[in-house]
Amino acid sequence: MLVDCHTHIDQFTDEEICQVLDRAKLADVGAIVIAGTTIQSSQRAVKLSEEFPQIFAGVGIHPMDLEGPVGETEYKELDGLARFNEKVLVVSEIGLDFKEGMPDRAIQYQAFREQIRLARDLHLPIVFHSREAHDETLRILKEEMAYDVGGIMHYFQADLRMAFRAIDLGFSISLARPLFRLPELQVVVSELPLEKLVIETDSAPQPFKSKRQNWTEPRHTREIAELISKIKSVPFEEVADITTRNFFKVIGYKKCLLEKYLRCI
Ligand SMILES: [Zn+2]
Repeated sequence: MLVDCHTHIDQFTDEEICQVLDRAKLADVGAIVIAGTTIQSSQRAVKLSEEFPQIFAGVGIHPMDLEGPVGETEYKELDGLARFNEKVLVVSEIGLDFKEGMPDRAIQYQAFREQIRLARDLHLPIVFHSREAHDETLRILKEEMAYDVGGIMHYFQADLRMAFRAIDLGFSISLARPLFRLPELQVVVSELPLEKLVIETDSAPQPFKSKRQNWTEPRHTREIAELISKIKSVPFEEVADITTRNFFKVIGYKKCLLEKYLRCI
């Protein structure tokens, strides 16, 4: 069984989600985590996790979606969502994004620090986003003692040195479809320990792609695992087992809960 540890499938309609889940099941993707990007999407992720046994949730505000600092109201809302819904496994998606046109950096720093504090309060791992901001992202994670909860560096596309810096800080490395088009990333993956790898699709509706069948979906977790198997010359089943176990390790004490739900499917 495979785990898609980071998606945004909450952005599909309810009807489409059922079809997406059916296709994921055929590809042996047994668990799917939906990351929140706003308060509303965190609420929807939690709601969907209540409706479908194979869906789990993350709560958090994405750096791209910040409209202001994370104040007491937002903190309490996210805290309550996580505390009263056992299927919330991670604080996600949080981080820093220094691409041009992104929200004010002072607000991003504040929101990132507050949400790391939230993760530590809740004893939940962090799934973090970093674009054009790796050094600063790792610096803040270290300063805020994010290593107490660990987590995942999501949609990894950086170099080997950065991967090991994240691993040293207690994070696993999440690979997605860019692995297909980035030969240098394939070289990095060949050097990384399989015990530190997890898989995701970051899937969301992609209307800019004309053919619906080309939209990324959780079912593509399987082909990412197949590529890792090829790169590392390790049988596919082993990659599936180990990356799934790696995700279980990341979520720590919630592992039993995840297994309980998966038995219901
Ligand atoms: Zn994402």
